[in-house]
Amino acid sequence: MVRGGASDKAGLLANCEKFAQLGGSVAIYSHFQGVSAAGGRVGDDRTYLDFARRAALTGRDEGGIPVGAALVVDDTVLGVGHNQRVQRGSVIRHGETDCLENVGRLPASTYRRSTLYTTLSPCPMCTGTVLLYGIGRVVIGESTTFRGPEELLLEAGIEVVQMNDAKCIAMMTEFVRAHPELWNEDIGV
Ligand SMILES: [Zn+2]
Repeated sequence: MVRGGASDKAGLLANCEKFAQLGGSVAIYSHFQGVSAAGGRVGDDRTYLDFARRAALTGRDEGGIPVGAALVVDDTVLGVGHNQRVQRGSVIRHGETDCLENVGRLPASTYRRSTLYTTLSPCPMCTGTVLLYGIGRVVIGESTTFRGPEELLLEAGIEVVQMNDAKCIAMMTEFVRAHPELWNEDIGV
């Protein structure tokens, strides 16, 4: 299932180009949703993780908590999301859940072959969401600043990839140092 996006290859590459040049905003992300990653320009885990990281940076620039996520199915980015605690006063829209909500309802068979990219190790709520919908694969930007119950994902047979990404670590470290109270609230401390 693809939501929006160009259908021809030239258009896809143009959109990729545009995405690379822009810092990213909600409008751009929503414009970008459904753009296929086929064509050799994008397609690896680091590239897709960058979608999640850019979403996190959008959240940070809005004054929010910089955690972002992207859902990829069959080399297609279906959507992205970022933590909305500050922006929307939401207690349940973390990067991962905001991403899934932005993408909308999907059949179970689509979730099974999807990969959820997240800049930070998923918390218990987001881990539960992954388990509930049977998302097949989770790529984690980093688990250094926070580590959720990743063993639950592994026990459920979900493939977990740890990227240990320096940019994700720096982004979160910087934020936790500047706003410890906001971060503690987000993880229930
Ligand atoms: Zn979470």
